[in-house]
Amino acid sequence: MALTALLSVSDKTGILDFARELHALGATLLSTGGTAKLLADNGLPVTEVAAHTGFPEMMDGRVKTLHPKIHGGLLARSDVPEHVAAMQQHDIQRIDILAVNLYPFEATVAKPGCTLEDAIENIDIGGPAMVRSAAKNWKDVTVLTDAAQYAGVLAELKAAGKTSDTTRFACSVAAFNRIAQYDAAISNYLSALQPDGSVSAFPAQHNANLVKVQDLRYGENSHQSAALYRDLHPAPGSLVTGKQLQGKELSYNNIADADAAWECVKAFEAPACVIIKHANPCGVAVAASPAEAYSKAFKTDPTSAFGGIIAFNREVDGVAAQLVAKQFVEVLMAPSFSAEALEVFKAKVNVRLLQIALPKGGSTPWEQGRNAQDVKRVGSGLLVQTADNHFLQKSDLKVVTTLQPTPQQIDDLMFAWTVAQYVRSNAIVFCGGGMTLGVGAGQMSRVDSTKIAAIKAANAGLALQGSAVASDAFFPFRDGLDVVADAGATCVIQPGGSVRDDEVIAAANERGIAMVFTGVRHFRH
Ligand code: 5GP
Repeated sequence: MALTALLSVSDKTGILDFARELHALGATLLSTGGTAKLLADNGLPVTEVAAHTGFPEMMDGRVKTLHPKIHGGLLARSDVPEHVAAMQQHDIQRIDILAVNLYPFEATVAKPGCTLEDAIENIDIGGPAMVRSAAKNWKDVTVLTDAAQYAGVLAELKAAGKTSDTTRFACSVAAFNRIAQYDAAISNYLSALQPDGSVSAFPAQHNANLVKVQDLRYGENSHQSAALYRDLHPAPGSLVTGKQLQGKELSYNNIADADAAWECVKAFEAPACVIIKHANPCGVAVAASPAEAYSKAFKTDPTSAFGGIIAFNREVDGVAAQLVAKQFVEVLMAPSFSAEALEVFKAKVNVRLLQIALPKGGSTPWEQGRNAQDVKRVGSGLLVQTADNHFLQKSDLKVVTTLQPTPQQIDDLMFAWTVAQYVRSNAIVFCGGGMTLGVGAGQMSRVDSTKIAAIKAANAGLALQGSAVASDAFFPFRDGLDVVADAGATCVIQPGGSVRDDEVIAAANERGIAMVFTGVRHFRH
């Protein structure tokens, strides 16, 4: 048989054996510089594409195979007389087999420190062009884009002297898939960059690089279907890096609430416990041990804690496990569980235990195991913003009242502020002694959130006398301040920035309250 094969591969794996076998079958071998050298060095007769076309490879290899003698040889249809005549007239030789793999663009951009210039030089032009020509003309040409295809094609050539329609069509489809994937990688990479190579936070086209983790039984409600996806490269310490140790499959709502719990508990340095219900904290506390933190967090709202999602930022030991096991818990998450704790939950087979390593820490969202961006779906669109990763320092506080908060009050205010960041707006959080005392969440009026927080504290038998209160946004009028004062708060943390700040500060002074401004707010919708 008088087959002609063009071999042009960046990844030379398996190409030598493939070429040897083709040669043994009587095929003529054509090849580009590097591939041709490998074959020639191993004693195979090979014609360089440059010799074949009469044009040298040029411009750093940017132009190697982009020539009518190559593309005519790949695109000419054997069943169209004009095509055959054109080949004869222009001395174009048919190319029956094309083996190409592309410049390693994906591997290049995955390397740390890859520059825009490196990336651009690794965009293959001639390779995809040949692959497309051959794949389009699949009735005449067998195109191989993966070394895994070499053996099958050789077997068919040996048995029948040619490949079957089925194989050539399958190779064509695989080739177009490979090109689509390659172009998507280039488009994804470049879309995130500015001309100087710096990363643009909000590229012209949003390409979320997500990988499916699993289908979920259903979505927020049973008539909705759902699945979980994770980032291609998830941040260490983020929810999706967790490992489920036991329990029923996580549901859509479990995962959403677990994320809220984990994001909140990670914000504390001291041993902390966070109990979440319907995306809002219904109990948060810090203490000397996880067991003590849990007991305090539970006290905030024992009714709501039923069926809650509980997160710890320390290992759950036997003592903490014994306490938690007394309540109905959906998901329990922690960086680790002691052997005793695992033993306690062995009997409670339905409890989902999730082990997630804490992030190692650092200044970037990635190092903190947090998202750099938040994404929210709106009708046929996507709202994208940098995530609310603002963490207040004591030095950021501005005391605005005549009364100065005591060091103990400052600690309570900082704690309340951290919790408020994870409560749906309007958020009002009463705290004291390292625990939440009353949480008002998700109301359309700040005054109502305050009243609800006070009612919940009363229901739980917790006194708000002398408490610290955080408001996620400023008080627009003095009425909100009056309600927190009536409830018993003696110090307030809030962003400030209202046109009526003076009125609110005057009210605080009048009511004997110490108030600090943060200068930032934490709306969470
Ligand atoms: P070699 O190692 O044989 O010198 O080069 C093989 C690589 O060159 C393959 O990855 C192939 O896709 C690529 N290639 C073939 N023709 C061209 C061309 O005309 N321009 C560019 N940029 N790459 C080509």
